[in-house]
Amino acid sequence: MARFGRRDTAPELALRRELHRRGRRFFVDRRVSSLCGVRPDLVFPRARIAVFVDGCFWHYCEDHAHLPKANAELWRRKLLANRQRDAQNQAILVVEGWRVLRFWEHERPEDAAAPVEHALDQ
Ligand SMILES: [Zn+2]
Repeated sequence: MARFGRRDTAPELALRRELHRRGRRFFVDRRVSSLCGVRPDLVFPRARIAVFVDGCFWHYCEDHAHLPKANAELWRRKLLANRQRDAQNQAILVVEGWRVLRFWEHERPEDAAAPVEHALDQ
């Protein structure tokens, strides 16, 4: 469960727009593994590249994930569990031959698009 009920967030849309502008085509929010239900935000099936744009709060970015004051310890454990699940899902995808690229929502879309293009062109 990579998106925690949210899809089409502004940073995802910005990266999608940037890649479209560069002439790249991809699938969105598509299940790719038979072993886990993870749905990468962008999927390039032929190149077997899966791209995630992780939200700073839910994926616990160390720069921006400010824990709510109430139940802070509970939140910390929950968000750490999310990160653990991200890592597990990523390991499964890699075993299945996917190349996984992860970005934070705080990254600029151009900065995320460049490594995606680089991977696609290899
Ligand atoms: Zn962040």
